[in-house]
Amino acid sequence: MRAACSECGIQTSLSPMQYSCSCGGLLQVIHAASEPDTDKLKRIFHERRSERNTLYASGVWRYKELIAPDLPDHMIVCKNEGNTGMYQSESLTEYAGVRGLSLKAQSENPSGSFKDNGMTAAVSHGRWLGYDRFACSSTGNTSSSLAMYAALAGVKSIVLVPDRDVSAGKVLQTLAYGADLCTFRGTYDDGIRFLQENAEELGLYVCNSINPLRIEGQKSIIYEIAQELDWKLPDWIVLPGGALSNAAALGRGLQDLFSLGFIERLPQVAVVQAEGASPFHRMVASMRCSGNNGLPPCIEFHSEQQPQTRASALNIGNPPSWRKALRTLTLTQGTTVSVSDQEIMEAKAYIDRSGIGCEPASAAALAGLRKLVRQGDVHPEQTAVCILTGNMLKDTDAISEYHLRNDPSSALRNTMRQVDLIYEAFQ
Ligand SMILES: *Cc1c(COP(=O)(O)O)cnc(C)c1O
Ligand SMILES: [Zn+2]
Repeated sequence: MRAACSECGIQTSLSPMQYSCSCGGLLQVIHAASEPDTDKLKRIFHERRSERNTLYASGVWRYKELIAPDLPDHMIVCKNEGNTGMYQSESLTEYAGVRGLSLKAQSENPSGSFKDNGMTAAVSHGRWLGYDRFACSSTGNTSSSLAMYAALAGVKSIVLVPDRDVSAGKVLQTLAYGADLCTFRGTYDDGIRFLQENAEELGLYVCNSINPLRIEGQKSIIYEIAQELDWKLPDWIVLPGGALSNAAALGRGLQDLFSLGFIERLPQVAVVQAEGASPFHRMVASMRCSGNNGLPPCIEFHSEQQPQTRASALNIGNPPSWRKALRTLTLTQGTTVSVSDQEIMEAKAYIDRSGIGCEPASAAALAGLRKLVRQGDVHPEQTAVCILTGNMLKDTDAISEYHLRNDPSSALRNTMRQVDLIYEAFQ
């Protein structure tokens, strides 16, 4: 498999595994320049939707031709990823303030987050190259996903998890799958730096989002949305941004769909960050202020030294994929916005009580869409899909903090009651 630097374009091989170019840019997979027959692929993708127990029943591998065509099927570690629900809710549409809203529940993936879409591709690729030790730095969901696929594949996973501001549920899930779980003093960003410096010598295959195969796998999220909507996408796709891998993958997926003629029109992409961890939003906003809507000659990115947000999956101060994410915004005339933890928790309460449910980071998408409508960046007559990235049971502490504490700012608090088991209690 070959890759090209996403900055300078120099091509290289992915065997042995590499993640970045000598210029500092991240690598991206390049597919052989065959002329794919789009109508034929559409037909194949459609037929595969009725597959049951084969590789192609997966919502990632259904699109194998566009993700990793050379990867031998028997090397693929698959757990029927994707195939997640897309839901509509009148109350959420009204809350967002748009004409039409769907929520794509990547939270329904086997380990409970969208990370599975990319991880199945990364672990399969590493196995093909002959690696037997896989590693990541993670605020939680990457580690649970890696630990799950490594267990399925019978290989070792080593996960580096910061010793604070992570969700116990995610860490325990990782432990239960049998990862070599290492907590350390520092942040996600310190962990990723360590892996970038040491993985090669240690013989570790890195499964963070700097891994270009993760990005290829995550493209399937937008493929699936597009296919479900009969290849007609809404005006906006809104998603939360932490390390910005999902924003990067979305752009690449959209570019494929557009350049291959699957879709006739590109939607706009909005990346939502949490206020306490919003270096990407701040950069994009400053570009907009200086009138540079598009790629300015000189971009300055300032990482956030002490990221702080209740949405632990977004608690990232130095997102490795920011340049790729910026390309997504340029491609789609997209935008960014930041939302407070309180706005995130309110949106989450609405999503939970609609019966769909998600973890805090995912709710940032809806909170951000609502804010963009109020700011006039999204028109109320437009339509949107919000990507819900993680499952509501990933962070049960967030639920008890919101509903079981007597906090006046929790306007949508649900309460429990203690009863005697008598008829009158339920009248
Ligand atoms: C990883 C993650 C994010 C952030 O995605 P990036 O690709 O890091 O920007 C958001 N929500 C959840 C639940 C996640 O697990
Ligand atoms: Zn380069």
